[in-house]
Amino acid sequence: MTSSIPQALQAVRQRLTLAEQEAGRPAGSVTLLAVSKTFPAAAIREAYADGQRAFGENYVQELESKAQELADLAIEWHFIGPLQSNKTRPVAQTAHWVHSVERLKIAERLSAQRPPELALLNVCVQVNVSGEASKSGCAPAEARALAQAVAALPHLRLRGLMCIPEPTEDASRLAAQFALLRTIFQQLQADGPALDTLSMGMSADMALAVHEGATLVRVGSAIFGARNYH
Ligand SMILES: *Cc1c(COP(=O)(O)O)cnc(C)c1O
Repeated sequence: MTSSIPQALQAVRQRLTLAEQEAGRPAGSVTLLAVSKTFPAAAIREAYADGQRAFGENYVQELESKAQELADLAIEWHFIGPLQSNKTRPVAQTAHWVHSVERLKIAERLSAQRPPELALLNVCVQVNVSGEASKSGCAPAEARALAQAVAALPHLRLRGLMCIPEPTEDASRLAAQFALLRTIFQQLQADGPALDTLSMGMSADMALAVHEGATLVRVGSAIFGARNYH
């Protein structure tokens, strides 16, 4: 089954609207991030021409080369992949958002390397909600202290939290992991800083994530098709 990018985007937007309705959430309250990793700049152009503005990349080099190639478009770039401390500079110079802050050292480098003439870099703290040892993200018990330290950095703007749940089709396990992130988020909101972003949900589980309170879903294959890893 292949469908064009505009057709696929339309189908994803419809799923999102339906999920908002079913969850009793206002229409348009969930942002769609199009995850374009491994897909060429031409695919991004096609989605952009169809009105999509926010794109997510996982690999620093891909972010850099696509941002250069697409510099004529008003794209909002989101970096969502694992970030090593020796690769923070190009991300700080190129991205509008980073969803994958899991350690203070990474946040400090992003803040120090953010060009002061650019807007503050929006960031989310990534939390390991599944407890899998292999997973990125800080431990749930560390999220609050990390968020407070990140919020104090001068060139970053803490927007919220992000998670990648365990790869399972068990909806109740997924729902529990999304709900854990939402609970931590609500605790942080009570602390004061104006957090507005709960980044959770992908192609397979976006409706469930919206039901559990996602404000941004990261959708790749449902828009661009299956990925061939390089
Ligand atoms: C690849 C990726 C996605 C998109 O996954 P799909 O299943 O293709 O929608 C979302 N978030 C992160 C962090 C990813 O790496």
